[in-house]
Amino acid sequence: RHDPQGSANFLEDESTKIFARKVADHYSARSNQTLEEREASPIIHLKKLNNWIKSVLIQLYARRGDAVLDLACGKVGGDLIKWDKAKIGYYVGIDIAEGSIKDCRTRYNGDADHHQRRKKFTFPARLICGDCYEVRLDKVLADDAPFDICSCQFALHYSWSTEARARQALANVSALLRPGGIFIGTMPDANVIVKKLREAEGLNFGNSVYWVRFDEEFSDKKFKSSSPFGIKYTFHLEDAVDCPEWIVPFHIFKSLAEEYDFELVFAKNSHEFVHEYMKKPEFVELMRRLGALGDGNQDNSTLSADEWEAAYLYMSFVLRKRGQPDKS
Ligand code: SAM
Repeated sequence: RHDPQGSANFLEDESTKIFARKVADHYSARSNQTLEEREASPIIHLKKLNNWIKSVLIQLYARRGDAVLDLACGKVGGDLIKWDKAKIGYYVGIDIAEGSIKDCRTRYNGDADHHQRRKKFTFPARLICGDCYEVRLDKVLADDAPFDICSCQFALHYSWSTEARARQALANVSALLRPGGIFIGTMPDANVIVKKLREAEGLNFGNSVYWVRFDEEFSDKKFKSSSPFGIKYTFHLEDAVDCPEWIVPFHIFKSLAEEYDFELVFAKNSHEFVHEYMKKPEFVELMRRLGALGDGNQDNSTLSADEWEAAYLYMSFVLRKRGQPDKS
């Protein structure tokens, strides 16, 4: 364990695993909330807004009968209901957190408390516990591929701890999608985070619902000499997240994705995303149903200014795998 040669690779591998475990433990340990607890959350409207963004992405890109790969699918199957509404044909969800996959299975099987009265999902599903950024998924999912659409919501940045993991994440998605297949995701917007860090007096910034803290090693705030991978900060989002995360410089993400045969369809900060899709009546109606942006007439009916600022930390992207879909 204490390598006298001080092998940098060994140490790097070991610490990467420790951080991946930290992330997994954090998400595994989060308890399920009752509906009442959820509604009382200080970021309830931000959660609803993020659900709206994911629903819009799914409605824009999922087609009836699609085979879906949901990387880092999350605790309660994250988006199972959204995929069900899109009438998909097959679903594979993978998450590193054992607790989350267990909850996911419960939800899929329809025996979780809050879902007792819900009809069974119409599509078959496979739920797997694993590290999507470490393991070669083309081997694990050889019988399930190819997928029409892959989704990685609020999680791809956990792959940017090392170049090897960032590459494995993209290699996995690329290997599993059919030509012309779509990769949708939401992750922190590095431009916003770095801009806020530079405007901050010290190495941290935030408001009443979130804070971000960078380590001393990034005190120059320029990141010029550092590798674009492994730029770690600690993120705290009230009632949601408390763990290490990594910056994903978007221009580097885009060119790395191109190496894995992806072309960018669009990338939009959440604020821009809201402004653009709130011009469409069907998505305004969806927002109303989800209750993210109320009419503002009642206290607590809409996002607080601090939640809206936290929303600004995120962006959505859509990539398309090169090639023409098989006609057969
Ligand atoms: N996608 C879900 C959603 O939108 O509700 C969950 C998002 S949650 C913020 C981040 C998820 O990423 C957690 O469920 C966590 O366990 C998962 N995760 C983090 N690192 C992972 C990895 N290396 N492999 C698979 N899942 C991972």
